[in-house]
Amino acid sequence: MSVSDLPKIELHMHLEGAAPPAFIRGLAAEKKTDLSGIFDEKGAYKYKDFWDFLKVYEAATSVLKTPQDYYRLTRAVLEESAASNVIYTESFLAPDFCGGGDVGAWRDYVAAIGQAADEMEREAGIVMRAIPTCVRHFGPDQAKKTALCAAETVGGFVTGFGMGGDEAMGTQGDFTYAFDMAREAGLRLTSHAGEWGGPDSVRDAIRDLKVERIGHGVRAIEDLALVDEIAEAGIVLEVCPGSNVVLGVYPAWSDHPISELRKRGVKVTISTDDPPFFHTTMRREFDRLSETFGWEAEDFMELNKVALAAAFCDDATREVVAKKLEQTNA
Ligand SMILES: [Zn+2]
Repeated sequence: MSVSDLPKIELHMHLEGAAPPAFIRGLAAEKKTDLSGIFDEKGAYKYKDFWDFLKVYEAATSVLKTPQDYYRLTRAVLEESAASNVIYTESFLAPDFCGGGDVGAWRDYVAAIGQAADEMEREAGIVMRAIPTCVRHFGPDQAKKTALCAAETVGGFVTGFGMGGDEAMGTQGDFTYAFDMAREAGLRLTSHAGEWGGPDSVRDAIRDLKVERIGHGVRAIEDLALVDEIAEAGIVLEVCPGSNVVLGVYPAWSDHPISELRKRGVKVTISTDDPPFFHTTMRREFDRLSETFGWEAEDFMELNKVALAAAFCDDATREVVAKKLEQTNA
């Protein structure tokens, strides 16, 4: 058995960013929107550099407008994840794009997405939980609205709160209010840091937002004292190696610090971020990590356990997923 056949736990994926190109093409055709410029001749997303990637991402997701669109998107995304033998996945959802930060509209989106997730759990055995995220470059006031949306839908399906967006805008500490509100509502916390920002951004997220997980966080490796602190505190990194290599955070897989972080005792996990945009899948991430660092089935099963322990689901769900993992003999 190849390592890519193993079951997988994924903690860091943006629902819109996981939209299969064929799904977006179909939706654009239904809505009579011309998106032909964003696909290559094989039908994959096409872009030249990071700035172009942002434009293509925005164009692709511009056709996602209603709760029904998100219902269909969720089914399409979870079908892809299940094909990679992902058995548990956490997906970031942005209330800013799902109802513009309005609580009532957001509820309709959560209901539609949650229904699709329930169906796919029954049909394909994949469990999904949702992490509403604020968008950093929309600023702290908008983030408060996002946190309120998250707080109003906490429980069962919605389990966490996070922040994505442009790391160059403002500081983590600007968003303390939104994260405090989310924590008080019972949501578990994560924030993107240490992808485009350096080690200080990771330090800020831990100190100011009191997150227990960091989205990416890989650039912590530039400050070994911080690496020790993260390891000691048990902070979990949602590492997305393929995304980092495609976007040029690291020039090649062999330059990626995931193996070094793991050796230094940091809890690392493996995710795809925006898989079709980075021409990756969870299967491919496992294969490339195995080729690059010589990791074997035992290594991946250990990482699965780290990820499941760090998952934001309730313990009953964790137990169900743990049983499934145990059925696989690494
Ligand atoms: Zn991300």
